[in-house]
Amino acid sequence: MSRFWSELAHGLKPYVPGEQPKLTNLIKLNTNENPFPPSPKAIAAMQAETGDNLRLYPDPSCSSLRHALADYNGLSVDQVFVGNGSDEVLAHAFQALLKQDKPLLFPDITYGFYPVYGDLFGIDYRAVPLNEELAVDVEDYMGNNGGIIIANPNAPTGLLLSLAEIRRLLVGNPDRVVVIDEAYIDFGGESAVALIQEYDNLLVVQTTSKSRSLAGLRVGMAFGQSHLIDGLERLKNSFNPYPLSREALAGAAAAVADVAYFDQTRQAIIELREWLSKELAALGFTMTDSKTNFVFVEHASQSAADIASALRQRGIIVRHLTSSPRTQNRLRISIGTQQECQALVTALKEVL
Ligand SMILES: *Cc1c(COP(=O)(O)O)cnc(C)c1O
Repeated sequence: MSRFWSELAHGLKPYVPGEQPKLTNLIKLNTNENPFPPSPKAIAAMQAETGDNLRLYPDPSCSSLRHALADYNGLSVDQVFVGNGSDEVLAHAFQALLKQDKPLLFPDITYGFYPVYGDLFGIDYRAVPLNEELAVDVEDYMGNNGGIIIANPNAPTGLLLSLAEIRRLLVGNPDRVVVIDEAYIDFGGESAVALIQEYDNLLVVQTTSKSRSLAGLRVGMAFGQSHLIDGLERLKNSFNPYPLSREALAGAAAAVADVAYFDQTRQAIIELREWLSKELAALGFTMTDSKTNFVFVEHASQSAADIASALRQRGIIVRHLTSSPRTQNRLRISIGTQQECQALVTALKEVL
């Protein structure tokens, strides 16, 4: 605390990211990073960008990257927005589109940044309880609200809404924006990008951090009809007109264009998730039907806290999220490499 802090700084409750330990020989399964390296083509593109031209500002309209994303998604360039990680894209969406007179709705158990942004930007929000199965029931999001944001698949539950359910949300809320945060969509879901031409109130947010192995680069994107993208551009150009470095623009565009590598690595993660789920079930864990690059598990007899600390002593870090009483006996475990998943299973056999 400092007497120099503003009232705003004083009142904040900042988001606490998962630990990034300095030790290098740990098996890190706590922040849903991709265990595979980025596309070699992305690395080459970034290296080619690192030179004399860093003297110059990057392209403020980010057009090369927006073109690559428009091509991949079958959209026009004016339906694509990019920012410094999807966290920044979400920040702009909260301010430009979701700050309204009526409350913003999101699930009570979801990405921890939503309430943080709600507080920071002075947005009235309401956390809607997940149902008994920890799933989003779209019928709970009809009626009196000023906007909706839902992570699909949701985190940390891993559960996916179908496109038919997303359609219900859009049709039931024609006069407010519905933001679908698809950070994990590439691990088994169907993207709502397919609905963009039909619905003028849909904004889809994605990231290169998870399925394209570029969490360190900080590139996120949003897709929607151009009037929504223009709203985000107004925010961006009032905050930071150069949110992406030259390396980020080049690396992300190359990663998006390398479809073969993307498909190969995400498929490998899906297969590892299915394998790990079976192994964990055999060890007495129950889990949600995750369509992400993590599993959300609870053990029949041992507490989540005990398991997490025993794993830690064996050099494996998993995430124990204690914010909600309904899920505080669960662990969120990111899908690692084959060897990391195997090491986890071996350690759990000792621990349990
Ligand atoms: C990881 C994550 C993000 C943030 O991703 P960045 O692009 O790295 O900022 C946003 N939403 C959800 C649900 C996430 O899990």
